[in-house]
Amino acid sequence: MSRNLELFERAKAHIPGGVNSPVRAFGSVGGTPRFVSRANGAHFWDADGKQYIDYIGSWGPAIVGHAHPEVIEAVQQAAVGGLSFGAPTEAEIDMAEAICRLVPSVEQVRLVSSGTEATMSAIRLARGFTGRDKIIKFEGCYHGHSDSLLVKAGSGLLTFGNPSSAGVPADFTHHTLVLEYNNVEQLARTFAELGDAIACVILEPIAGNMNLIKPSAEFVKELRRLTDQYGTVLIYDEVMTGFRVALGGAQSLHGITPDLTTLGKVVGGGMPLAAFGGRADIMGKISPLGGVYQAGTLSGNPVAVAAGLKTLEIIQRPGFYEHLSAQTAKLAQGLADAAKAAGVTMCADSVGGMFGIYFSETIPTGYADVTKSDLERFKRFFHAMLDEGVYLAPSGYEAGFVSAAHDDAIIEQTLAAARRALGKVAG
Ligand SMILES: *Cc1c(COP(=O)(O)O)cnc(C)c1O
Repeated sequence: MSRNLELFERAKAHIPGGVNSPVRAFGSVGGTPRFVSRANGAHFWDADGKQYIDYIGSWGPAIVGHAHPEVIEAVQQAAVGGLSFGAPTEAEIDMAEAICRLVPSVEQVRLVSSGTEATMSAIRLARGFTGRDKIIKFEGCYHGHSDSLLVKAGSGLLTFGNPSSAGVPADFTHHTLVLEYNNVEQLARTFAELGDAIACVILEPIAGNMNLIKPSAEFVKELRRLTDQYGTVLIYDEVMTGFRVALGGAQSLHGITPDLTTLGKVVGGGMPLAAFGGRADIMGKISPLGGVYQAGTLSGNPVAVAAGLKTLEIIQRPGFYEHLSAQTAKLAQGLADAAKAAGVTMCADSVGGMFGIYFSETIPTGYADVTKSDLERFKRFFHAMLDEGVYLAPSGYEAGFVSAAHDDAIIEQTLAAARRALGKVAG
């Protein structure tokens, strides 16, 4: 029996489903999750000692490659000085200054420990600032697992959402409207009807939790125009895209200044660290300055801040994003070419260090499109790649992530594996 399977069976006895986050259980692709024993650069090794090229990178944080020696050293140095104080540190100021410099829409920022906390706090803040209750989110966008965001669309266009998870009272999702990503007309109609009651719009400015989906230029522009017109807070949830699609995040690519931004994943360099920030007049409403409560025992944790600061230092080096984007584009183009040669209906797209592969004729523009792609074929491709030693996200609804450690040889090795895997899933 494989050691991965042995561990999975053992895990299931005392951990629900054997995992601490559901996607890790391989539920949508089947088979045995790989238990990671260690990782370095673009690779990790599983419990059987098999090596994989990793295209998840901890779902984004590992942008400089796993176990980067400079990040490890920074973490080790910080750890020696104590793990957590529950009192302010100088490094937290360095981190806040770095974030505000790199993401200019952020004038003030607060550090938290997870993306879920960041978005939950940003929404509470938007509600406290505007004195309004209703919020808009988009179908297929994921913003963590706080109650008011675990929502699926209601039955009618302007009906409020229903819980997408058991345990969330319908009352809690009553104030959340779920609209279609990239549907400008629906957005405009909703604002015309309810704009004055809407506290905030939260979106993934480039979606990565329904595979990679880009917004249209018009959608992005209308979002800013309508939220400005109605005094609604525009929240760019850049937990995934921040420091991933570009140094300044998706907002720098869109040329949009959101009111609030949430960050996570890359900002912590692999440690539990996230952040929310934005306009100083809005951030001034948070306690202890204002009446919107928010706190955290481990917020601004010194070891996490050390990992994040070193990661931010590395990604600012000359050519970092040019290289990352070029490698990712090479991968996406190579995969699309390989599919074409194999006669498999599949396309690919990328932005910065993020990519999507879609078993469909065209690149999807929203959640409904993604559900219509050939997820059965994706499943077979996923397992064929896994056999080849290439670890893709175990779900057709997730984007992929490339790191600076994915050099030409690794990309070429991946494409060679893909050509064989696509041959297997053709027909
Ligand atoms: C991952 C993610 C979150 C949640 O972050 P956690 O750290 O997992 O709580 C929120 N928003 C987006 C866009 C994400 O990708």
